[in-house]
Amino acid sequence: MEHHRHDVVVVGAGIAGLYAAMKAGESADVGVLSKVYPTRSHSGAAQGGCAAALGNEGNDSWEFHFYDTVRGGDFLGDQDAQELLVKEAIPVMYEMEHLGVPFSRTAEGKIAQRPFGGHFADFGKTAVKRACYAADRSGHAQLHCLYEQSLKQGVRFYNEFFVISLIIEDGTCRGLVALEIRTGVLHAFWARAVMLATGGYARAWRVTSNSHANTGDGLALVAAAGVPLEDMEFVQFHPTGLYPHGILISEAARGEGGYLFNNDGMRFMEKYAKSKMELAPRDVVSRAEQTEIDEGRGIDGGEYLHLDLTHLGEKTILERLPQIHELVVKFAGIDCTKKPIPTQPTAHYSMGGIPTDLDTRVLRDGKKQAVEGLFASGECACVSNHGANRLGTNSTLEAAVFGRRGGMVMARFVKEAGPILPGAERPTREAEEGFEHLCASSGPESAKRIRAELQASMTDNVGIFRTAAKLQKQVALIRDLKARFENVGISDRSRRFNTEITELIELKYMLDFSEVIAVSALAREESRGAHSRNDYPKRDDNQWLRHTLAFREADGSLRLDYKPVVITRFQPEERKY
Ligand SMILES: Cc1cc2nc3c(=O)[nH]c(=O)nc-3n(C[C@H](O)[C@H](O)[C@H](O)COP(=O)(O)OP(=O)(O)OC[C@H]3O[C@@H](n4cnc5c(N)ncnc54)[C@H](O)[C@@H]3O)c2cc1C
Repeated sequence: MEHHRHDVVVVGAGIAGLYAAMKAGESADVGVLSKVYPTRSHSGAAQGGCAAALGNEGNDSWEFHFYDTVRGGDFLGDQDAQELLVKEAIPVMYEMEHLGVPFSRTAEGKIAQRPFGGHFADFGKTAVKRACYAADRSGHAQLHCLYEQSLKQGVRFYNEFFVISLIIEDGTCRGLVALEIRTGVLHAFWARAVMLATGGYARAWRVTSNSHANTGDGLALVAAAGVPLEDMEFVQFHPTGLYPHGILISEAARGEGGYLFNNDGMRFMEKYAKSKMELAPRDVVSRAEQTEIDEGRGIDGGEYLHLDLTHLGEKTILERLPQIHELVVKFAGIDCTKKPIPTQPTAHYSMGGIPTDLDTRVLRDGKKQAVEGLFASGECACVSNHGANRLGTNSTLEAAVFGRRGGMVMARFVKEAGPILPGAERPTREAEEGFEHLCASSGPESAKRIRAELQASMTDNVGIFRTAAKLQKQVALIRDLKARFENVGISDRSRRFNTEITELIELKYMLDFSEVIAVSALAREESRGAHSRNDYPKRDDNQWLRHTLAFREADGSLRLDYKPVVITRFQPEERKY
């Protein structure tokens, strides 16, 4: 095993990981590991934009943004974190502008802004242009800029390094073990501070907008070390995935004025959100779509609806939504300047994740006690900015604001924390043994089959509408799949670029956190935000205005605990759009 030392090691090179690395790199020695090449991280797929109440195209304030974020999250978000997010959004957006992100511009040369679902002025009243964008390649622009700036700070990149184990001893994180995919060699990284910025996990569903790398690795790694996972039952389904696989058609398409139609040619959002129509929050629009499909009003009775952009005109579409135009031509053979786009809800975003405090420190009891030296930010973390449902464009924002904050916190922390401690042999040996055991797998079960069954059943049983019966079925099924995983076999015995092994490890991660999602969802007997139970159709603030914490016990079982929601300003109210 090869050994490396850095003050700070960041796992993940999306917007969160790169912002953290760039900031920490101003004074500390930083290494970044990423299992895909940095600029291929999923952040690069973000199309629509990044929210900040700059007020460049209308009257806006961070207070309106604060209220929208609280209400959008169905009052489950922690308001101290949400306030910080919307206030810091403004300086962070200007910092990104000055770092070189090529935002689209207004006629006066300011950062251009567009409307997005759930964002309003005057405390929920009128649509507002809040999303800062670079055409429909916003994440791509941010990611490339942050990568260049990290290189400028002298950050060391370990590309295509796949983290397989965290080294946590006596409540302190000392480093991690990673597989160099190119050679098949294991490496130990020793550090004073480790940040997980490993992104989302919607690859556990069959219909998903997420890239192949989004397999929730960071979550499974901390859960295995006894750290709880928070609010995992809250998974966002985006209303406009391209039928049939779910590739994302950005909400920017509706922000720019796109309409949704059912088979009767009706703009059906009239029935579900009369005033906000297509720009209601995502959970509301996805439920409306699924209801239309379930009641037989999908196009030609099928499992999709129409997103129509044709009335916007070719010029607007090609100027503001060029990537969407290209995606739809390439993947559906349709020219969306002339014909509507077939769309369906698609598994998109994880509101829950690794519990952290406002300074991105990972909390081992979910409440106050931190794991020393361990940090998390971006989509894998849950500081609870989004509560039960995230608003569009608040997520690249969270990755930027909390990645940046984490980078600064870690830089201070490593200065005070003293030298990197000598590494113990046991944890690296255990990681190596576990890895060798997987490489030697020779059972009759097929990982591909287990993965397909997991993904199909998550879409069927842990989708938009849930019931106790479906969730119980899913918990039993996942436990059965986990047992079958023990008898899995691989055919490729080589070490170089062995994707059969990396996919096997990802499958293990997905089975682990999917069980947490199903168990947490089964326990939550209410409907709130993206978690919609047919058998408990109402929000229940008396019982359930609290965060779920799921602990993996030493015997492999799951234990649920709860913690209160932080409410500072906005009391829960009925949510109408
Ligand atoms: C198609 C799409 C469009 C979106 N559009 C928008 C939008 O317009 N606005 C918005 O705000 N949000 C949007 N989102 C959500 C947003 O893009 C993400 O939540 C955000 O970019 C996540 O950033 P991140 O840095 O946390 O993770 P990611 O960008 O997903 O990066 C994760 C990183 O972790 C690394 N990694 C993971 N596991 C391991 C491992 N085991 N070992 C080593 N490295 C590992 C990966 O290599 C990668 O570098 C969109 C999401 C999707 C899927």
